Amino acid sequence: MEYALITGGSRGIGRAVCLALARAGNPVIINYAGNHSAAAETQQAIAQQGGQAELLQFDVANPQAVDKAIETWQNAHPDDHIGILVNNAGIRDDAMMVFMQNEQWNSVIDTSLGGFFNVTRRLLKDMLTKRKGRIINIVSLSGLKGMPGQTNYSAAKAAVIGATKALAQEVAARKVTVNAIAPGFIATDMTQDLDQDSLKKLVPLGRFGKPEEVAALVEFLASDAAAYITGEVISINGGLYT
Ligand code: NAP
Repeated sequence: MEYALITGGSRGIGRAVCLALARAGNPVIINYAGNHSAAAETQQAIAQQGGQAELLQFDVANPQAVDKAIETWQNAHPDDHIGILVNNAGIRDDAMMVFMQNEQWNSVIDTSLGGFFNVTRRLLKDMLTKRKGRIINIVSLSGLKGMPGQTNYSAAKAAVIGATKALAQEVAARKVTVNAIAPGFIATDMTQDLDQDSLKKLVPLGRFGKPEEVAALVEFLASDAAAYITGEVISINGGLYT
């Protein structure tokens, strides 16, 4: 069977992506960092809609943990492969740069950029051999425009955008596509500390986006209908131009 792996699939955008890809008929692997109950809730919601999902806990920022978890999964699934990878796991740890600590810089870069590298590298060989694959990276408006207070996060997301464009060219001959999605403000745990009432005034469509709206775009990019789209960064931000 052809599985979809969603990093950070336990909550927020990742959870909505898991539900959408499962509804589209893909068995789903839900990765998460530590929130087992949220991951189990996502798995249960997929089962309730008649889909199939497995949990796979690992820290995307830890290359050894990524290798071990994926190797264990592959040994348990000798006849299956992961044909869709959604690199969604990410964290925010905002600070003005003059106050930013090493740990804040490193953890945000290691999760978004390191996570992209650690997981994608591990799954790419199989996609290239099978001559089929979809890699979808969740980046951010912050990586296109830059956001004050987020030099770490903007740098991490901008780096993944560059990697998306480079990798798309590397693997296109093998029919593997690589794209990025750049959301603006989406209502999830990640944005719950923000002042939604004042920030939504900046958005031409006048509201934060929903995780399901991002998931619909992921579902399209993962589908056969999107076979001719690669190396793109698609914004989904309610008209909040960069
Ligand atoms: P969220 O609600 O905070 O959820 C984050 C998810 O990432 C959780 O499933 C979490 O797992 C997982 N995660 C965090 N660190 C991880 C690690 N080291 N290894 C594995 N999983 C890890 O975030 P969200 O708002 O859905 O954001 C999802 C993605 O969209 C992120 O890349 C974010 O940067 C991006 N994005 C979000 C927005 C927005 O407005 N929300 C805008 C632009 C881009 P646990 O549940 O186990 O903690």
